[in-house]
Amino acid sequence: LPTLLPDLVWQDGAFVAGPGIAYDPVSGRIAAVVAAEAALSAPDLVRLPGRAVMPGFVNAHSHAFQRLLRGRTQRRPADAEGADFWTWRDAMYRIALGLSPDQLETVTHACYVEMLVAGYTSVGEFHYLHNDPAGRPYDDRLELAWRVVRAAGRAGIRVRLLHAAYATGGIDAPLRPEQRRFATPDLETYLLDAVQLIEGTASMAHASVGLAPHSVRAVPRAWFHPIHELAYGCDLPFHVHASEQPAEVAAAVAAWGRRPIEMLVDEGVVDALFTAVHATHVTRREIAALGTPGPVICACPTTERDLGDGMLPASELVAAGAFLALGSDSQAVIAPLEEARLLEYHERLRRLRRVVLGRARGDAFEAAPLLLDAATTGGARALRLPAGTLEAGALADFVAIDLEHPALAGCAPDTLAACLVFSAPPDVVSDVWVGGVQRVVDRRHPDGRAARQALAAVARAIPG
Ligand SMILES: [Zn+2]
Repeated sequence: LPTLLPDLVWQDGAFVAGPGIAYDPVSGRIAAVVAAEAALSAPDLVRLPGRAVMPGFVNAHSHAFQRLLRGRTQRRPADAEGADFWTWRDAMYRIALGLSPDQLETVTHACYVEMLVAGYTSVGEFHYLHNDPAGRPYDDRLELAWRVVRAAGRAGIRVRLLHAAYATGGIDAPLRPEQRRFATPDLETYLLDAVQLIEGTASMAHASVGLAPHSVRAVPRAWFHPIHELAYGCDLPFHVHASEQPAEVAAAVAAWGRRPIEMLVDEGVVDALFTAVHATHVTRREIAALGTPGPVICACPTTERDLGDGMLPASELVAAGAFLALGSDSQAVIAPLEEARLLEYHERLRRLRRVVLGRARGDAFEAAPLLLDAATTGGARALRLPAGTLEAGALADFVAIDLEHPALAGCAPDTLAACLVFSAPPDVVSDVWVGGVQRVVDRRHPDGRAARQALAAVARAIPG
């Protein structure tokens, strides 16, 4: 078996010297973490001097096509009162309306190549673009979902396709014309499509499915429970955008006298399969509900700051027992370490304190292990993948960190995690393996140049 022997390996929340990682390229799993002496006698030894190896980052929430929005939403008419989430959403709708299946695949592939180079080895793609530009279903209703799966396969990233239901343009409101490509006609069709996706990906090593009622704004209340039943029956992740914006909370309270998370608790869907995406505007009671049964909160801090969403009460959620994951969401930047650092930095700004999130280690309280966990094991939990750790049986998804990068000069093994989280740029990731296959070699993906050119061609062709 191939056995990697770097200088340092991430084990139990710390970088340690010594062990090698033996993996099986056929199963795509880690076979064993072995002592350095045993690694040295492995017939297929791969020495990685000047490198540390850690689990690949898990991107628990992505809308790949929104990569096209980069640079296009950072201005507003001079006479307008101010831009916000809702004006950004209008720009996103304009982009979504223009994409052909080929263009969607091109953008998604380029986005996934960029993710791999940044060190993401798996992605939860919250996929809500279903119909043709006129709002009619494609001959194969799942045409665009299969394009996403194919783009992931071409790039070499692991994808959990989170199949979104989208049926209303606000609570109990009809869809708006510009939402026609997202439309799910009815619950039965949604469930049949989901089953078809589950069956169609069953034999794929790189792709699997999760269920995702888009939000309490976009899905009738009566759908949540039956969709969750299917997720429960098949042991699939169940993701919902919740409480990203105060207006959504106000609409829920007006409609049901319940805030979005409270409504989801009432519907019986907040459990260990459940991931709340954002959960920015939550009360103490909602935080308690999100803590006890073991759901995941997926924060998307680089997007939340870009959209002016607000700051996650992360420390209260952690104290209540919730698990945190991270997502690149709108692709404003694709930088897993930056997502991790913002979790803590937003807490510092919100609470006027330092080292707020973290974990006790000896007589110290350290921020970095919890933040790196959010970027690895937390995402793996949200996507229900055996990833995020370097141990026998886990997926052979890992990244090499370049210890000779200028930003890491002077870091010691015991400060490396903190240097990475708080001070490292994205290009400290030098090499990336997914399922034991090396996809990025010395910061280069074989499709990199072609993917960038193809993305540029789509960007030129899509107005907005
Ligand atoms: Zn989202």
